[in-house]
Amino acid sequence: MKQEERSLETRMIHSHRRDPRKNEPVTTPIYLTSTFEAKDIEEQVQLEEDKADTFYTRYGNPTLSVVEQMVAELEATEAAVLFGSGMAAITTSLLSFLQKGDHAVFQREIYGGAHYFASEILPRYGVNVSWVSAQDTDGFRRAIVDGTRVVYLEAPTNPTLRLVDIHQVATLAKGKGALTFIDSTFATPFNTRPVELGVDGVLHSATKYLGGHSDLLAGALAGSRKIVNQVKSYLRVLGGVLDPHAGYLLLRGLKTLGMRVRQHNKNGLAVAQFLEEHADVDEVFHPMLESHPQYLLAREQMVGGGGVVSFEVRGGLPAARRFANAVQLLRVAPSLGGIESLLSIPCLTSHAMLTSKQREVAGISDGLIRLALGIEAPEDLIKDIDQALKSV
Ligand code: PLP
Repeated sequence: MKQEERSLETRMIHSHRRDPRKNEPVTTPIYLTSTFEAKDIEEQVQLEEDKADTFYTRYGNPTLSVVEQMVAELEATEAAVLFGSGMAAITTSLLSFLQKGDHAVFQREIYGGAHYFASEILPRYGVNVSWVSAQDTDGFRRAIVDGTRVVYLEAPTNPTLRLVDIHQVATLAKGKGALTFIDSTFATPFNTRPVELGVDGVLHSATKYLGGHSDLLAGALAGSRKIVNQVKSYLRVLGGVLDPHAGYLLLRGLKTLGMRVRQHNKNGLAVAQFLEEHADVDEVFHPMLESHPQYLLAREQMVGGGGVVSFEVRGGLPAARRFANAVQLLRVAPSLGGIESLLSIPCLTSHAMLTSKQREVAGISDGLIRLALGIEAPEDLIKDIDQALKSV
């Protein structure tokens, strides 16, 4: 059977298999080295040009090359590149394509760090930024004009789980010659296929679901060879590369990504449905709830809704604080995508960088609680949430 005919889950376990005749190790070795020795100076010059992953680790590393190949397979792109964090992936990729005088269109509801970069830092370098809300496809139609260089999306959004119509917006961007990037961290390659919907560059905070075990920081960009090579040339200078050891941990996480995402999807929906029936809960956000305003779009562009569920507890911030202090199984910590369930209050953590006015526009109330559900048994999670809600 050809590799391409196998399912993504199978390929994540076997695609990096090396030549069995050479008695190769079953797992990928970690090349824990900053530099590589060449036979002579002529070969060294050649390595820098043609085989950068055996030249110097800021240029590439064999362990990282294997993981990059896996990410490219996951997103069905020609190539991928890894970074030291999700923010390094976002900032390096955008800086590789934007320069003074360029126009870029950003979705308004994006991760706080990306929002800060686009609203405070890019304008300092002379980039003109327009903002459009995720659901406002007409707004994107008006904002993307001749000369727009980059359109930047995120779906589902953090923490309100809104969706952007990826296909429609990417098509609008293509029509004007702009590149579309999406932060697909919350979706994972198993729940949304951005490239099939017309996206040029798929970004991940691999710290989250791709790594999956809350033990590493990493970022990734998947796209055409041309896009990835351009970003690699900036990465070499900006320097936000991934350490090979963390690269190995990411590789190990990727092997179980499909299985984990199935359980995250199951837990996300079970907890969302439980919360929706609860008397102390005002509103629940999860893409696969029929009450989600974009439920039909979710069914179109997502396989499952993922493990993040946000809800507004009755009683605002004081009630949210009491809930957070009462959980026993869930842990109070930022981040998501790991096997253990975490809880955060976005106005105090991930979105504290935004002004209260910006949070209001993004639909983040002070009583909003974000649950990043892991892969525990759903009944145990529901029991814990139920008892914590009693103390509210
Ligand atoms: N994108 C999203 C959607 C995130 O949630 C985060 C972090 O929480 C990031 C990007 C940034 O990733 P990192 O913390 O790996 O830099």
